[in-house]
Amino acid sequence: METSYAERHIKSLSLAKTCAELGARIKTISYLTGLGHQDLVRLFFVDAHSAPRGRPPASPEWYHQANLIEKVEASVFCAIFERMSALGVGPADALVGAYKTYRGQCAQPARISFDRAFDLVCHLKGMWAQRTVQFSLNVCPSCHSHFLAALGERARCEHACPFCKLVKRYSCDKRVQTSFAPCSTPPLLQSDFGLLAVFIANGTADADAR
Ligand SMILES: [Zn+2]
Repeated sequence: METSYAERHIKSLSLAKTCAELGARIKTISYLTGLGHQDLVRLFFVDAHSAPRGRPPASPEWYHQANLIEKVEASVFCAIFERMSALGVGPADALVGAYKTYRGQCAQPARISFDRAFDLVCHLKGMWAQRTVQFSLNVCPSCHSHFLAALGERARCEHACPFCKLVKRYSCDKRVQTSFAPCSTPPLLQSDFGLLAVFIANGTADADAR
């Protein structure tokens, strides 16, 4: 069934509201929703000055100079975006969904702003504000993580993989440890795992008895 104009407009307004809550610039929201600048100011900001301002992100230059943690976080966000897109989620919804998921996984305040995330996708897919693709998501031949790289950069070079570098640096870098704290495993309860927990408990008891 064809979507009516009213339904599309309501969806655009809902998307715009979410983007504004995530800290997006008016221009970014306009690209994603097709809504006009004046309408967005009137509906979601006190006035034009209360909206986020400053130079828009320029990610190809930024990524080249970004530190290791920023490269890892940008790669994590882009990998989630690609996964959502592969499941058939539309680009704007995938951007918002991937950004929320990425932000939820950060142990520290997210280093990638929503506008940066938008710009990364623009350059990864050649869409919205950019017509040319400048990034690709490469697979590391060593750890198999997906990492962001300049288009054409040798995909099989593990020296370019920020995740491999992160693992090497982890034990001696406090900043990296704070940003990527180890996941704590909840205690295994018998009520959660039934027979499995009984089996493990018995196995432990047997080992203790030996
Ligand atoms: Zn790697």
